[in-house]
Amino acid sequence: MQIPFGDFKRQYIELQRELDDAMQRVVQSGAYILGPSVKAFEADFAAYCETPYCIGVGNGTDAIQLGLIALGVRSGDEVITVANSGVPGTAAIIAVGAVPVFVDVDPHTRNMNPALLEQAITPRTKAIMPVHLYGLMADMPAIMAIAQRHSIPVIEDVAQAQGARLAGARAGSIGAVAAFSFYPSKNLGAIGDGGALTTHDSGIDAELRKLRVYGWERKYYSTVASGINSRLDELQAAILSVKLRHLEASTARRVQIAAYYNTQLADSGLLLPQTPAGYAAVYHLYVVQTPMRDAYMAALKEAGVTTDIHYPLPTHHQPIYTQYAPSWGLPVTEKQAQEVFSLPNFPELSDAEVEYVATATRQARLSVKGK
Ligand SMILES: *Cc1c(COP(=O)(O)O)cnc(C)c1O
Repeated sequence: MQIPFGDFKRQYIELQRELDDAMQRVVQSGAYILGPSVKAFEADFAAYCETPYCIGVGNGTDAIQLGLIALGVRSGDEVITVANSGVPGTAAIIAVGAVPVFVDVDPHTRNMNPALLEQAITPRTKAIMPVHLYGLMADMPAIMAIAQRHSIPVIEDVAQAQGARLAGARAGSIGAVAAFSFYPSKNLGAIGDGGALTTHDSGIDAELRKLRVYGWERKYYSTVASGINSRLDELQAAILSVKLRHLEASTARRVQIAAYYNTQLADSGLLLPQTPAGYAAVYHLYVVQTPMRDAYMAALKEAGVTTDIHYPLPTHHQPIYTQYAPSWGLPVTEKQAQEVFSLPNFPELSDAEVEYVATATRQARLSVKGK
């Protein structure tokens, strides 16, 4: 059996009638830019995230960049974040002229370690950006307490955690502003690029609505200087509204697959994902850890199971970003980059495919041991 790591087309086929109808309505309406579909999706997604405001933008990286600008982050300011989440957040920090300051992650949750946060704060720190990695929220109560003590705003990177909860609160409803991506692989994914921000603050909402259209307050009249063009597309918004109606069900399927792996792989020799009490994870990725990673991945490839590494090279080890390697070192981030890999977990996997992945992973252990 060949198991893909993901398959965007399967979700389209499952929802084809609804999606085709939604797309046709946009095409026939003639309203293509910031029209009724974006407005409707923003209202739906704000309600889903349990925040008063949602602003649709072009993609997740733009969402982070615009969120930072709306928080007042400017050239030379510092933004504290993590180095284990791929590079988009760091690229956005650098795009606004700011400096990324990396803190290490917790070995169990793989998210920003709040115990290491305070040492990284300086008078130039203008924002703190935790990433809710793999679908598990960062320790927001601890991060918010430190941020509030220092009067530093928090921007949540929710690209991988649409719908996750911590102590009842939705991802994206806690910080001053939150950034989402609707890249097709995300838990809520478009058929192309898309992004959004959520906030409780009407001032930040108003600012973001200008920033995404060149800085225009109203047509042809600019009142902010750092505006760009980053609008959520009407077609993508219509598609996202359809998919949002199915998000709870598709999340439940990801959680079900993860729970199955957790029981089936208990003796697989792998460190399995851990969800602390009070957290509802949405398993954007099912990430396991072992010093024998390469051998496991090779055995799984042999069995036809596609795996991936999220992420192989931490941000501060990217050749263009080595100047941002912090003096305090990031040992947990570095160890995980060498040891983690991800098993296929997407809602459209069949039960037979999921069983096959689990069996192949258990068998991989035997072949790894024999080496
Ligand atoms: C996908 C992702 C982004 C970037 O989103 P794009 O829509 O591709 O720009 C940012 N942060 C994290 C953690 C992501 O997974």
